[in-house]
Amino acid sequence: MSRRPTAAILVTGSEILLGRTQDRNSGTLARSLDANGIRVERIVAVDDREEHLRAALADLVDGGYDLIITSGGLGPTHDDRTVSIIADVTGLALQLDEGALAEITAIVTGYAAQRNVPVEQLLPGARKQAMVPVGAHVISPAGTAPGLIVPGATTIVVLPGPPTELAEVWHRALEHAAMRDLLGAQLERRVLRIWSTPESTVARVFDELGGDQHGTETSICATRLEVEVVIRFAPAARAAGTALADGLLDAFGDAVYAEDDLPVEARVVQGLEQRGLTVACAESCTAGMVAARLAAVPGASNVLRGGIVAYANDVKIAQVGVPAATIAEYGAVSAEVALALAEGVREVLQSDLGIGVTGVAGPGGGSDQKPVGLVHVAVVGPHGTRQVLERSFPGDREAVRTNSALTSLHLVRLLLQDERLSLDV
Ligand code: ATP
Ligand code: MG
Repeated sequence: MSRRPTAAILVTGSEILLGRTQDRNSGTLARSLDANGIRVERIVAVDDREEHLRAALADLVDGGYDLIITSGGLGPTHDDRTVSIIADVTGLALQLDEGALAEITAIVTGYAAQRNVPVEQLLPGARKQAMVPVGAHVISPAGTAPGLIVPGATTIVVLPGPPTELAEVWHRALEHAAMRDLLGAQLERRVLRIWSTPESTVARVFDELGGDQHGTETSICATRLEVEVVIRFAPAARAAGTALADGLLDAFGDAVYAEDDLPVEARVVQGLEQRGLTVACAESCTAGMVAARLAAVPGASNVLRGGIVAYANDVKIAQVGVPAATIAEYGAVSAEVALALAEGVREVLQSDLGIGVTGVAGPGGGSDQKPVGLVHVAVVGPHGTRQVLERSFPGDREAVRTNSALTSLHLVRLLLQDERLSLDV
């Protein structure tokens, strides 16, 4: 296939259309398809009503995609209808797959024994799940529902709804011989993550560099406090893709903090580890979010000493050693208190670096001088190194707190660039 193969994703489930469950499966599939050179052209979500499911599937089959992937509706009960509707829409008869039946029966026999349920109750469901369209390839289940690859002008891959099951069965499907011709040439990519720069500035520089060239496809996306640029290109367009990436690197210099998908906390843990340094946090408005993000990185125990949630003023004073006079003079939300938190926790928890965060998360508690969203962050390290920042974050309480935590981690990253903290000190 010389052009890129195309795909559509059909996510099923009334709970998704009711807003009760957030769809995770389309993202998992879209990222994997992109990595495999397949262009996702549509993502459709539909409720579990039979006529809606049938119409959505028929519409996608008419769309002429190379691949359709469905998520959900493979359970043992009558209201899990995806397979029978696919059989209907494609005109394929359903038949019992003995191999699938044996596999599902073994699984439900295990479940029945564990839960003390008579296995006979589960056998009709197992039989229902083993009915597959003629010619379909069965992919081994991760729960009880097998996946299917239904070959045809459009290949249809049928996957279970629970996200971990979907991911596992999809990875098995990708390995199947029936998928081989569909997978596109893998595109190369360059990722640039740019901190604290407006998206429009990045877009303007990208245009000045000439924008997308023949064979390159670039997405520019602003998420929390950063702009992510992903430049994809086929090997034939490598020179153009590389020129765009290098041009952006030149233009944004130190603001480009990553050329991979790792979150900033992973970079921070790695940077501390390389320098043999430890860190501790004293958090007011983020109440542990900074420590939690650091702890989410494997290997954090080598660098994270601990954290103190210092919400009330008397806790800031008694536990972290913030001078009462500093709070009285400047207020709890101030650069001075952020610094005192950082210095105090460094002392109390005996770490090389200290992080202090204080702010007004809202929605109440703001004033003219200190409006909701105002945050002070400080990071102090050995040899007198320090970073302090005042920010006014828009958004709700959750946004202010998340952005404060993220900003603290970026300040640690910036502090680690100080030459006084280099490996040789
Ligand atoms: P089951 O055998 O569990 O019924 P199924 O293949 O029929 O599996 P669904 O009934 O559609 O799948 O979904 C089962 C559960 O999986 C849902 O209740 C929901 O919690 C979760 N789920 C399904 N689809 C999604 C999705 N797109 N994103 C996140 N969670 C999902
Ligand atoms: Mg179900």
